[in-house]
Amino acid sequence: MNRYAVRIGSALALALSFQLGQFATASAAENPYGYDGKRVVFETLVQRSGGPAVSADDPGLHQLVRNAGGSVTWDADNQYVLVTFPGPTVISFAIGDAHYLIGSVSHPAAFAPFVRDGHAFIPLNDVLRALKLPAYSTAAADAAPATSTPLPGPVSTADVAPAPTTPPFATPMPSPQPDQLAQVTGVDVQVQPGSVTIRIGITGNGAYEWHRLRAPDNRWWIDVHTARLATAPIDQNGGALVSAVRVRQQPADTVRVALSLPASEQVDVAPGNDGITIVVSNRIVAAATRGSGTFGSIATANASPLASPAASPGARYVPSNPRLIVLDPGHGGSDPGAVRGSLQEKMVTLDIAKRVRDLLVDRGWQVVMTRTDDRDVFAANDSAHDELQARDDVANSRGARLLVSVHVNSYVNSGPHGVATYYYKAGDLALAQALSRRIASELGINNNGVIKDKLYVVNHAVMPAALVETAYISNPDDFALLQSGSWRQRMAQAIADGIVDFTESN
Ligand SMILES: [Zn+2]
Repeated sequence: MNRYAVRIGSALALALSFQLGQFATASAAENPYGYDGKRVVFETLVQRSGGPAVSADDPGLHQLVRNAGGSVTWDADNQYVLVTFPGPTVISFAIGDAHYLIGSVSHPAAFAPFVRDGHAFIPLNDVLRALKLPAYSTAAADAAPATSTPLPGPVSTADVAPAPTTPPFATPMPSPQPDQLAQVTGVDVQVQPGSVTIRIGITGNGAYEWHRLRAPDNRWWIDVHTARLATAPIDQNGGALVSAVRVRQQPADTVRVALSLPASEQVDVAPGNDGITIVVSNRIVAAATRGSGTFGSIATANASPLASPAASPGARYVPSNPRLIVLDPGHGGSDPGAVRGSLQEKMVTLDIAKRVRDLLVDRGWQVVMTRTDDRDVFAANDSAHDELQARDDVANSRGARLLVSVHVNSYVNSGPHGVATYYYKAGDLALAQALSRRIASELGINNNGVIKDKLYVVNHAVMPAALVETAYISNPDDFALLQSGSWRQRMAQAIADGIVDFTESN
């Protein structure tokens, strides 16, 4: 569902408010959320400075919303939570955005929704307020055990007046500025012998990613991020090679162009100044299943999505999501990285990256990790190229502000020790220096400074990127540090501080 194309007003949500509003005034001292004589209990509450946060998969939240005829959806790929009611009314929360939308109307949120261990947390009281329910009070909920006093019966829509035309909020804020979104203006399909050229016209800058499903499915699609479809949905035929071209607005400001292919045809993607050109040809059988890049002036500055961003030192990276930090815990799954005894690099990097994430989220940043558990990002036992590119894809496709990869160093003997921060592109240096400064000042570890090296994950990130080799697992003193939770916390603090320092001066 399109976040921006939903009308305001839901008979069911308002019906709910009539029933529960009455009950809430009668017994404000108790947890007032319940149906069919059962109380709704929120099992995942986390206290934030702005109020209680609830996980989007909390059973209590789902029960509450379900009883109002709605549903809760967490879209991890697109980083938003939708609470949908018939009508339709959609309340949408985007991770890292301290506003939420009811239909197309923006409201300030108690705090920016955040992700922890793969679960999206949203402001509970904003959901309750949208449902016209009283705010949740910890004291009141504690005072009233979940199994006590019966509650009013189920809500019946039959005896409720039609929904009034006034929105639930008296002073709606303006919608998000449309000029920040790229506009997909149309699609032109040209069928030639042996190939089909599909031109997607786009104004503005942004990032895209494409995917294809393996044979025999052969579906292929490209998502244009931070974009709005300026035309009606498009359905077109592409001749023998492309049986259908479909263009649709997706949630979270994404426009999807999907191709139905009768076979595993070669699909080439070429971004340009005014859009993206896709050429489908019957020459070669395609192997890749996904890719990403940027379009608009940032794409043409780099000449080709495959070219190293370092090839164009004059081009300044413009993040489409300037509040988003991507953290990359090195290795994972089938690749343990450096190992000594029972200590595996992949677990240390994950632990440190999670600590960095929590510190940044607490400071209001949106954070996406390339992995949040012990897994390969691309596939088990894949090539280094595929695995590392998949990590860059996470950052590139989202237009992140910067990318920091966390690793543990190792050598053939125990001599080398300490931390080093790697960079490669011109735009990486300031980030590496900011990280290195904080690591030097906050940790008493031997600091080997910043080192220029053509590391794949740094070089293929379109944004400023750096890789921290936190310590040598092969050195006994460093090995002891790596095993210490408090040291890993201090390293995480230094990395988080370095990231924030960089964003403040760049
Ligand atoms: Zn490593």
